[in-house]
Amino acid sequence: VSIIVQKFGGTSVSSASNIKHIVSRVLNEKNKGNQVVVVVSAMGDTTDILTNLAVEVSSNPEKREMDMLLSTGEQVTIALLTLALQEMGADAISLTGGQAGIHTDSVYGNASITSINPERITKELNAGKILVVAGFQGITEKGDISTLGRGGSDTTAAALAARLEAERCDIFTDVDGVYTSDPRLIKNASKISSLTYDDMLDLATRGAGVLHPRAVKHAKIFGIPLVVRSSFSKENGTLITVPTKHSDRENVIGIVFQRGQIALYINGLTSVDRTTLLETLGKRHISNDLYEEEKEEAFIIYKKDYSGVQEVLSEKGKFEGIHYYKKSNLAKLSVIGRNLKTYPVNRKLVSMVLEREGIPFNFIKDSHKSVSVLLKEEDMIRSTELLHIEFSLDADAVRTIKQGVAIH
Ligand code: ASP
Ligand code: MG
Repeated sequence: VSIIVQKFGGTSVSSASNIKHIVSRVLNEKNKGNQVVVVVSAMGDTTDILTNLAVEVSSNPEKREMDMLLSTGEQVTIALLTLALQEMGADAISLTGGQAGIHTDSVYGNASITSINPERITKELNAGKILVVAGFQGITEKGDISTLGRGGSDTTAAALAARLEAERCDIFTDVDGVYTSDPRLIKNASKISSLTYDDMLDLATRGAGVLHPRAVKHAKIFGIPLVVRSSFSKENGTLITVPTKHSDRENVIGIVFQRGQIALYINGLTSVDRTTLLETLGKRHISNDLYEEEKEEAFIIYKKDYSGVQEVLSEKGKFEGIHYYKKSNLAKLSVIGRNLKTYPVNRKLVSMVLEREGIPFNFIKDSHKSVSVLLKEEDMIRSTELLHIEFSLDADAVRTIKQGVAIH
Protein backbone atom coordinates (compact mmCIF):
# COMPACT_ATOMS: atom_id res chain seq x y z
CA VAL A 1 0.00 0.00 0.00
CA SER A 2 0.99 3.58 -0.59
CA ILE A 3 1.04 6.33 1.97
CA ILE A 4 -0.47 9.67 1.00
CA VAL A 5 0.07 12.76 3.14
CA GLN A 6 -2.54 15.50 2.86
CA LYS A 7 -2.08 18.92 4.43
CA PHE A 8 -4.94 21.36 4.92
CA GLY A 9 -4.12 24.99 5.69
CA GLY A 10 -5.90 27.46 7.96
CA THR A 11 -8.50 28.66 5.44
CA SER A 12 -9.42 25.08 4.54
CA VAL A 13 -10.33 24.37 8.15
CA SER A 14 -11.58 27.83 9.17
CA SER A 15 -15.08 26.68 10.17
CA ALA A 16 -16.95 23.55 11.18
CA SER A 17 -18.53 23.42 7.73
CA ASN A 18 -15.12 23.67 6.01
CA ILE A 19 -13.86 20.87 8.23
CA LYS A 20 -16.83 18.72 7.24
CA HIS A 21 -16.14 19.60 3.61
CA ILE A 22 -12.59 18.18 3.63
CA VAL A 23 -13.73 14.88 5.14
CA SER A 24 -14.65 13.63 1.66
CA ARG A 25 -11.20 14.57 0.36
CA VAL A 26 -9.63 12.45 3.04
CA LEU A 27 -12.02 9.52 2.60
CA ASN A 28 -11.43 9.60 -1.17
CA GLU A 29 -7.75 8.81 -0.70
CA LYS A 30 -8.48 6.21 1.94
CA ASN A 31 -11.09 4.47 -0.24
CA LYS A 32 -8.51 4.12 -3.01
CA GLY A 33 -6.75 1.73 -0.66
CA ASN A 34 -4.06 4.14 0.52
CA GLN A 35 -2.84 4.74 4.03
CA VAL A 36 -3.60 8.38 4.81
CA VAL A 37 -1.85 10.84 7.08
CA VAL A 38 -3.58 14.22 7.35
CA VAL A 39 -1.74 17.26 8.68
CA VAL A 40 -3.75 20.34 9.63
CA SER A 41 -3.15 23.96 10.58
CA ALA A 42 -4.99 25.99 13.17
CA MET A 43 -8.47 27.21 12.18
CA GLY A 44 -8.46 30.47 10.19
CA ASP A 45 -6.73 33.30 12.05
CA THR A 46 -6.37 31.37 15.30
CA THR A 47 -2.57 31.70 15.44
CA ASP A 48 -2.80 35.49 15.05
CA ILE A 49 -5.56 35.71 17.64
CA LEU A 50 -3.54 33.70 20.14
CA THR A 51 -0.47 35.85 19.48
CA ASN A 52 -2.49 39.01 20.13
CA LEU A 53 -3.83 37.57 23.36
CA ALA A 54 -0.30 36.97 24.59
CA VAL A 55 0.65 40.54 23.78
CA GLU A 56 -2.27 41.74 25.89
CA VAL A 57 -0.96 40.05 29.01
CA SER A 58 2.77 40.34 28.43
CA SER A 59 5.11 42.99 27.03
CA ASN A 60 7.82 40.48 26.20
CA PRO A 61 6.30 37.00 26.06
CA GLU A 62 8.64 34.16 26.92
CA LYS A 63 9.19 32.04 23.79
CA ARG A 64 8.57 28.71 25.49
CA GLU A 65 5.15 29.85 26.69
CA MET A 66 4.33 31.26 23.26
CA ASP A 67 4.85 27.81 21.79
CA MET A 68 2.71 26.28 24.50
CA LEU A 69 0.01 28.75 23.53
CA LEU A 70 0.29 28.65 19.72
CA SER A 71 0.42 24.86 19.54
CA THR A 72 -3.12 24.71 20.95
CA GLY A 73 -4.50 26.08 17.67
CA GLU A 74 -3.59 22.97 15.71
CA GLN A 75 -4.83 20.73 18.52
CA VAL A 76 -8.34 22.13 18.16
CA THR A 77 -8.33 21.24 14.47
CA ILE A 78 -7.00 17.69 14.80
CA ALA A 79 -9.68 16.82 17.34
CA LEU A 80 -12.49 18.37 15.29
CA LEU A 81 -11.41 16.79 12.01
CA THR A 82 -11.04 13.41 13.67
CA LEU A 83 -14.51 13.72 15.18
CA ALA A 84 -15.90 14.68 11.76
CA LEU A 85 -14.19 11.66 10.16
CA GLN A 86 -15.52 9.35 12.87
CA GLU A 87 -18.98 10.79 12.32
CA MET A 88 -18.77 9.48 8.76
CA GLY A 89 -17.88 6.05 10.06
CA ALA A 90 -14.13 6.30 9.45
CA ASP A 91 -11.57 4.87 11.82
CA ALA A 92 -9.41 7.91 12.62
CA ILE A 93 -7.17 9.10 15.42
CA SER A 94 -5.59 12.47 16.21
CA LEU A 95 -1.99 12.94 17.33
CA THR A 96 -0.07 15.99 18.54
CA GLY A 97 3.36 16.60 17.00
CA GLY A 98 5.03 14.99 19.99
CA GLN A 99 2.74 11.95 19.89
CA ALA A 100 3.53 11.61 16.19
CA GLY A 101 7.23 11.38 17.11
CA ILE A 102 8.31 14.74 15.70
CA HIS A 103 11.44 15.85 17.52
CA THR A 104 12.89 19.34 17.15
CA ASP A 105 15.72 21.50 18.41
CA SER A 106 14.84 23.96 21.16
CA VAL A 107 14.68 27.15 19.10
CA TYR A 108 11.21 28.01 20.40
CA GLY A 109 9.08 29.81 17.84
CA ASN A 110 11.20 28.70 14.92
CA ALA A 111 12.33 25.17 15.68
CA SER A 112 13.75 22.74 13.12
CA ILE A 113 12.76 19.10 12.97
CA THR A 114 15.76 17.03 14.02
CA SER A 115 14.25 13.54 13.70
CA ILE A 116 10.97 11.69 13.40
CA ASN A 117 10.28 8.45 15.23
CA PRO A 118 7.51 6.89 13.14
CA GLU A 119 6.73 4.04 15.55
CA ARG A 120 3.34 5.25 16.72
CA ILE A 121 2.25 6.45 13.29
CA THR A 122 3.22 3.18 11.63
CA LYS A 123 1.41 1.20 14.30
CA GLU A 124 -1.81 3.17 13.83
CA LEU A 125 -1.59 3.11 10.03
CA ASN A 126 -1.12 -0.64 10.07
CA ALA A 127 -4.20 -0.92 12.26
CA GLY A 128 -6.11 0.71 9.38
CA LYS A 129 -6.53 4.13 10.91
CA ILE A 130 -6.53 7.52 9.26
CA LEU A 131 -4.06 9.69 11.12
CA VAL A 132 -4.73 13.34 11.83
CA VAL A 133 -1.54 15.06 12.96
CA ALA A 134 -1.13 18.58 14.35
CA GLY A 135 1.05 20.64 12.02
CA PHE A 136 3.54 23.32 13.06
CA GLN A 137 4.61 21.62 16.30
CA GLY A 138 7.05 19.15 17.74
CA ILE A 139 8.71 18.23 20.97
CA THR A 140 12.18 19.21 22.22
CA GLU A 141 14.71 16.93 23.84
CA LYS A 142 13.47 18.20 27.21
CA GLY A 143 9.92 17.23 26.34
CA ASP A 144 8.69 20.78 25.80
CA ILE A 145 6.36 21.76 22.98
CA SER A 146 8.01 23.73 20.19
CA THR A 147 6.65 25.37 17.04
CA LEU A 148 8.22 25.44 13.58
CA GLY A 149 7.72 29.08 12.56
CA ARG A 150 4.77 30.65 10.77
CA GLY A 151 3.53 28.47 7.94
CA GLY A 152 5.25 25.48 9.55
CA SER A 153 2.44 22.99 8.98
CA ASP A 154 3.70 22.54 5.42
CA THR A 155 7.00 21.46 6.91
CA THR A 156 5.32 18.94 9.20
CA ALA A 157 3.54 17.43 6.20
CA ALA A 158 6.60 17.24 3.95
CA ALA A 159 8.84 15.92 6.72
CA LEU A 160 6.33 13.19 7.58
CA ALA A 161 5.95 12.34 3.89
CA ALA A 162 9.72 12.03 3.61
CA ARG A 163 10.12 9.94 6.76
CA LEU A 164 7.27 7.61 5.79
CA GLU A 165 8.45 7.47 2.16
CA ALA A 166 5.01 8.58 1.06
CA GLU A 167 3.91 8.33 -2.52
CA ARG A 168 2.88 11.98 -2.58
CA CYS A 169 2.28 14.98 -0.35
CA ASP A 170 -0.74 17.11 -1.26
CA ILE A 171 -0.77 20.65 0.10
CA PHE A 172 -4.39 21.88 0.07
CA THR A 173 -4.67 25.64 0.30
CA ASP A 174 -6.83 28.62 -0.67
CA VAL A 175 -5.22 29.06 -4.09
CA ASP A 176 -5.24 26.34 -6.74
CA GLY A 177 -1.50 26.21 -7.34
CA VAL A 178 1.75 28.11 -7.49
CA TYR A 179 1.52 31.26 -9.58
CA THR A 180 4.03 33.58 -11.24
CA SER A 181 3.17 36.01 -8.43
CA ASP A 182 0.64 36.10 -5.58
CA PRO A 183 -2.69 35.70 -7.45
CA ARG A 184 -4.56 37.31 -4.58
CA LEU A 185 -2.72 40.59 -5.17
CA ILE A 186 -1.42 40.48 -8.72
CA LYS A 187 -4.41 40.16 -11.05
CA ASN A 188 -2.63 38.77 -14.09
CA ALA A 189 -0.50 36.17 -12.34
CA SER A 190 -0.58 32.85 -14.16
CA LYS A 191 -0.56 29.35 -12.77
CA ILE A 192 2.53 27.20 -13.21
CA SER A 193 1.73 23.54 -13.85
CA SER A 194 5.02 22.10 -12.69
CA LEU A 195 8.20 23.29 -11.02
CA THR A 196 11.44 21.74 -9.81
CA TYR A 197 12.23 21.60 -6.09
CA ASP A 198 15.00 24.13 -6.58
CA ASP A 199 12.84 26.64 -8.39
CA MET A 200 10.11 26.26 -5.77
CA LEU A 201 12.70 26.67 -3.04
CA ASP A 202 13.87 29.94 -4.57
CA LEU A 203 10.31 31.22 -4.87
CA ALA A 204 9.46 30.16 -1.31
CA THR A 205 12.64 31.51 0.26
CA ARG A 206 12.11 34.87 -1.39
CA GLY A 207 8.50 35.24 -0.34
CA ALA A 208 6.05 32.98 -2.18
CA GLY A 209 3.89 32.36 0.89
CA VAL A 210 2.12 29.42 -0.72
CA LEU A 211 4.66 26.93 0.61
CA HIS A 212 7.08 26.96 3.55
CA PRO A 213 10.68 26.73 2.24
CA ARG A 214 11.66 24.06 4.74
CA ALA A 215 8.84 21.87 3.45
CA VAL A 216 10.40 21.97 -0.01
CA LYS A 217 13.79 21.00 1.43
CA HIS A 218 12.37 17.95 3.21
CA ALA A 219 10.52 16.83 0.08
CA LYS A 220 13.58 17.36 -2.10
CA ILE A 221 15.93 15.22 -0.02
CA PHE A 222 13.70 12.17 -0.39
CA GLY A 223 12.24 13.06 -3.80
CA ILE A 224 8.66 13.18 -2.53
CA PRO A 225 6.36 14.79 -5.12
CA LEU A 226 4.57 17.82 -3.64
CA VAL A 227 1.30 18.99 -5.11
CA VAL A 228 -0.10 22.43 -4.27
CA ARG A 229 -3.85 22.47 -4.94
CA SER A 230 -7.10 24.06 -3.85
CA SER A 231 -9.18 22.55 -1.05
CA PHE A 232 -12.25 24.08 -2.64
CA SER A 233 -11.94 22.90 -6.25
CA LYS A 234 -10.86 19.82 -8.19
CA GLU A 235 -8.29 21.76 -10.27
CA ASN A 236 -5.01 19.99 -10.98
CA GLY A 237 -2.72 22.26 -9.02
CA THR A 238 1.06 22.59 -9.32
CA LEU A 239 3.38 19.58 -9.17
CA ILE A 240 6.77 20.11 -7.55
CA THR A 241 9.28 17.42 -8.33
CA VAL A 242 12.70 16.62 -9.84
CA PRO A 243 13.60 18.29 -13.12
CA THR A 244 12.62 16.23 -16.16
CA LYS A 245 15.36 17.47 -18.42
CA HIS A 246 18.36 19.63 -17.96
CA SER A 247 18.08 23.02 -19.51
CA ASP A 248 20.52 25.89 -19.48
CA ARG A 249 18.05 28.18 -21.08
CA GLU A 250 17.33 31.33 -19.18
CA ASN A 251 13.92 31.40 -17.60
CA VAL A 252 12.16 33.94 -15.49
CA ILE A 253 9.75 32.02 -13.30
CA GLY A 254 8.03 34.55 -11.12
CA ILE A 255 8.13 37.67 -9.03
CA VAL A 256 7.77 37.37 -5.27
CA PHE A 257 7.90 39.78 -2.39
CA GLN A 258 8.33 40.02 1.37
CA ARG A 259 6.81 42.82 3.40
CA GLY A 260 7.73 43.95 6.91
CA GLN A 261 11.45 44.40 6.28
CA ILE A 262 13.85 46.60 8.19
CA ALA A 263 17.23 47.80 6.97
CA LEU A 264 19.73 47.95 9.81
CA TYR A 265 22.77 50.18 9.31
CA ILE A 266 25.55 49.30 11.70
CA ASN A 267 28.57 51.56 12.13
CA GLY A 268 31.84 50.38 13.59
CA LEU A 269 31.37 46.71 12.87
CA THR A 270 34.74 45.01 12.31
CA SER A 271 34.92 42.08 9.91
CA VAL A 272 35.32 39.76 12.90
CA ASP A 273 32.19 41.27 14.46
CA ARG A 274 30.41 40.78 11.19
CA THR A 275 31.21 37.08 11.10
CA THR A 276 30.18 36.68 14.74
CA LEU A 277 26.94 38.53 14.07
CA LEU A 278 26.05 36.40 11.04
CA GLU A 279 26.84 33.23 12.99
CA THR A 280 24.72 34.29 15.96
CA LEU A 281 21.80 35.23 13.74
CA GLY A 282 22.13 31.89 11.99
CA LYS A 283 21.99 30.02 15.29
CA ARG A 284 18.81 31.85 16.21
CA HIS A 285 17.32 31.10 12.76
CA ILE A 286 17.06 34.83 12.05
CA SER A 287 17.21 35.19 8.31
CA ASN A 288 18.94 38.20 6.87
CA ASP A 289 20.09 39.70 3.63
CA LEU A 290 22.64 42.30 2.79
CA TYR A 291 22.73 45.19 0.54
CA GLU A 292 25.97 46.88 -0.21
CA GLU A 293 26.24 49.95 -2.31
CA GLU A 294 29.21 52.24 -2.50
CA LYS A 295 30.16 52.81 1.13
CA GLU A 296 26.83 51.73 2.58
CA GLU A 297 25.97 48.35 3.96
CA ALA A 298 22.71 47.29 5.56
CA PHE A 299 21.45 44.09 7.09
CA ILE A 300 17.92 43.42 6.00
CA ILE A 301 15.81 41.60 8.52
CA TYR A 302 12.18 40.98 9.27
CA LYS A 303 10.54 43.49 11.61
CA LYS A 304 9.47 40.58 13.83
CA ASP A 305 13.15 39.67 14.33
CA TYR A 306 14.23 43.18 15.32
CA SER A 307 14.05 42.65 19.08
CA GLY A 308 16.05 39.42 18.68
CA VAL A 309 18.74 41.27 16.74
CA GLN A 310 18.79 44.06 19.33
CA GLU A 311 19.36 41.43 22.00
CA VAL A 312 22.26 39.97 20.04
CA LEU A 313 23.84 43.38 19.42
CA SER A 314 23.66 44.33 23.08
CA GLU A 315 25.23 41.11 24.36
CA LYS A 316 27.93 42.07 26.88
CA GLY A 317 31.44 42.34 25.53
CA LYS A 318 30.54 41.31 22.02
CA PHE A 319 29.91 44.29 19.82
CA GLU A 320 31.38 47.14 21.85
CA GLY A 321 31.42 50.59 20.30
CA ILE A 322 29.00 49.99 17.50
CA HIS A 323 26.10 52.26 16.59
CA TYR A 324 23.13 51.32 14.57
CA TYR A 325 19.95 52.80 13.18
CA LYS A 326 17.12 51.36 11.16
CA LYS A 327 14.83 52.17 8.27
CA SER A 328 11.40 50.53 8.49
CA ASN A 329 8.40 49.81 6.28
CA LEU A 330 10.49 48.25 3.56
CA ALA A 331 9.86 45.29 1.30
CA LYS A 332 12.00 42.96 -0.74
CA LEU A 333 10.98 42.18 -4.29
CA SER A 334 12.67 39.36 -6.19
CA VAL A 335 12.62 38.28 -9.79
CA ILE A 336 13.19 34.54 -9.63
CA GLY A 337 14.53 32.48 -12.46
CA ARG A 338 17.23 30.21 -13.75
CA ASN A 339 20.60 31.06 -15.26
CA LEU A 340 19.96 34.75 -14.74
CA LYS A 341 23.58 35.71 -14.19
CA THR A 342 24.44 34.93 -17.78
CA TYR A 343 22.04 37.66 -18.71
CA PRO A 344 22.82 40.73 -16.56
CA VAL A 345 20.20 42.23 -18.76
CA ASN A 346 17.66 41.35 -16.04
CA ARG A 347 19.26 43.61 -13.52
CA LYS A 348 19.27 46.40 -16.07
CA LEU A 349 15.66 45.73 -16.94
CA VAL A 350 14.65 45.94 -13.29
CA SER A 351 16.41 49.24 -12.73
CA MET A 352 15.16 50.63 -16.00
CA VAL A 353 11.54 49.97 -15.09
CA LEU A 354 11.78 51.22 -11.51
CA GLU A 355 13.73 54.33 -12.51
CA ARG A 356 11.29 55.10 -15.28
CA GLU A 357 8.45 55.03 -12.74
CA GLY A 358 10.39 57.06 -10.17
CA ILE A 359 10.35 54.23 -7.62
CA PRO A 360 13.36 54.41 -5.26
CA PHE A 361 15.16 51.11 -4.64
CA ASN A 362 18.46 49.45 -3.72
CA PHE A 363 19.80 46.25 -5.19
CA ILE A 364 20.33 43.34 -2.83
CA LYS A 365 23.09 40.84 -3.53
CA ASP A 366 21.75 38.68 -6.37
CA SER A 367 22.65 35.42 -8.02
CA HIS A 368 21.98 33.46 -11.19
CA LYS A 369 18.63 32.58 -9.61
CA SER A 370 17.33 35.92 -8.45
CA VAL A 371 17.49 39.65 -8.80
CA SER A 372 16.27 41.29 -5.60
CA VAL A 373 15.63 44.87 -4.67
CA LEU A 374 14.78 46.63 -1.46
CA LEU A 375 12.04 49.22 -1.75
CA LYS A 376 9.33 50.98 0.23
CA GLU A 377 6.48 48.72 1.28
CA GLU A 378 4.00 51.11 -0.33
CA ASP A 379 5.69 50.67 -3.74
CA MET A 380 5.80 46.88 -3.58
CA ILE A 381 2.60 45.88 -5.36
CA ARG A 382 2.89 48.45 -8.14
CA SER A 383 6.51 47.48 -8.77
CA THR A 384 5.56 43.83 -8.92
CA GLU A 385 2.78 44.55 -11.41
CA LEU A 386 5.12 46.54 -13.62
CA LEU A 387 7.89 43.95 -13.58
CA HIS A 388 5.39 41.13 -14.05
CA ILE A 389 4.41 42.77 -17.34
CA GLU A 390 7.98 43.65 -18.27
CA PHE A 391 9.11 40.04 -17.90
CA SER A 392 6.07 38.87 -19.89
CA LEU A 393 4.67 36.81 -17.05
CA ASP A 394 1.08 37.99 -17.45
CA ALA A 395 -1.40 35.24 -18.22
CA ASP A 396 -2.45 36.70 -21.53
CA ALA A 397 1.05 37.78 -22.53
CA VAL A 398 2.71 34.39 -22.51
CA ARG A 399 1.19 31.12 -23.53
CA THR A 400 4.22 28.95 -22.84
CA ILE A 401 4.29 29.82 -19.15
CA LYS A 402 1.90 26.92 -18.56
CA GLN A 403 4.86 24.59 -19.05
CA GLY A 404 6.85 26.58 -16.54
CA VAL A 405 8.79 28.18 -19.35
CA ALA A 406 8.95 31.90 -19.79
CA ILE A 407 10.50 34.13 -22.33
CA HIS A 408 13.70 36.10 -23.03
N1 ASP B 1 -0.90 27.91 12.34
C1 ASP B 1 0.44 28.25 11.96
C2 ASP B 1 0.48 29.61 11.29
O1 ASP B 1 -0.55 30.25 11.17
C3 ASP B 1 1.10 27.20 11.13
C4 ASP B 1 0.53 27.02 9.75
O2 ASP B 1 -0.58 27.45 9.47
O3 ASP B 1 1.19 26.41 8.91
O4 ASP B 1 1.51 30.06 10.90
MG1 MG C 1 0.58 28.18 4.82
